[in-house]
Amino acid sequence: MAYLIRSAHLYSPEDKGIKDVLIVNDKVAAIGENLKIELPGLEIINAEGKIMTPGLIDQHIHVTGGGGEGGPRTRTPEIQLSELIECGTTSLVGVSGTDSLTRSIPNLLAKVQALTEEGVTAWMYTSNYSYPPTTLTGSVKGDLLMVHECLGVKIALGDHRSSFPTSQQVMDLLTQIRVGGMIAGKLGVLHIHLGNVPGAFEIFKEVVARGMPIRHIRPTHCARDAKVFEHALNFAKAGGRIDITTGGSCFLSSPADAVETAWKEGIDESLITMSSDGHGSVPRFNDKGEMIGLGVGGVACNLRDARKLLERGYKPEKVLPLLTRNVAKGLELKGKGEVIIGNSADVCIFDQDWQLQDVISKGVVMMKDKQLLVKGTFEQ
Ligand SMILES: [Zn+2]
Repeated sequence: MAYLIRSAHLYSPEDKGIKDVLIVNDKVAAIGENLKIELPGLEIINAEGKIMTPGLIDQHIHVTGGGGEGGPRTRTPEIQLSELIECGTTSLVGVSGTDSLTRSIPNLLAKVQALTEEGVTAWMYTSNYSYPPTTLTGSVKGDLLMVHECLGVKIALGDHRSSFPTSQQVMDLLTQIRVGGMIAGKLGVLHIHLGNVPGAFEIFKEVVARGMPIRHIRPTHCARDAKVFEHALNFAKAGGRIDITTGGSCFLSSPADAVETAWKEGIDESLITMSSDGHGSVPRFNDKGEMIGLGVGGVACNLRDARKLLERGYKPEKVLPLLTRNVAKGLELKGKGEVIIGNSADVCIFDQDWQLQDVISKGVVMMKDKQLLVKGTFEQ
């Protein structure tokens, strides 16, 4: 398969101006102006007047469904391929959540493998909210080494649904992740669901002071309340990466406001990412801890909030890295997050109003002129 995408305004996410992009099989093979290519079966996609970006990366999706806080009928459903493609997500990390009993880690692994077979690229974090971690192989190191898709471990800190490990236990876990990552040739990260109970950032400060590199510590839901956000900004000022959830858990009127605040605070822009928390439950609790309502997170919120920032006049090369290069660099996802020669052919094509038109994932046209061409196995 070969496609020549003609005359798109390319944001790689850098502003590259008007470019032709050649895709051969699953890779970006050439980028240039007025490329003259002869290849058997080459298809031309005319993208004049359109905008091309890397495929978006969402590092926090409950692909197998989450929830369950209100009993069996409140377990949220599994994600389907179309939902991802319709919002330009071509890479993702699957996570587990509150329910560590019925949402098994083998189930999560099988689901990310299924999504990768269906056409996107999916990874996962082992474990869920609880400590000690639930693993596939019996150890964190084993999961990192033996499970290709495993990028690290998920945990929740400061949430009434989680465990409350001590700083020594968090340090032990990070050591397992760091050494497991070394052995496996991966970065190895601890992906942390932050709750409202304070204390998590104090733990991070302590473990970093004891010698743990800050790059292994990855808090998410960083804008869930004002206190957490303030701590998160300080964590980023110390060189830590922070993730802002677009699908809920935000104290400001929009997650885009949180990103804007972080930019204005002078945080190193490459350290900020956004993720959707898609297909997680969005329970609402009263002050007695009783659940009073429940919703399901969507995955389109990432694109919605990126669009909000663009509408406020921020340049695409500033906004797009939140969902592309910053995520790929932060997790060492090789060949992802940038439209450059040799990288995975994951691209989105938008019209001038940032309405998504076409999606190509691993060199396969998944959506063309807003029509889905490839659907999930059970969506036909
Ligand atoms: Zn979540």
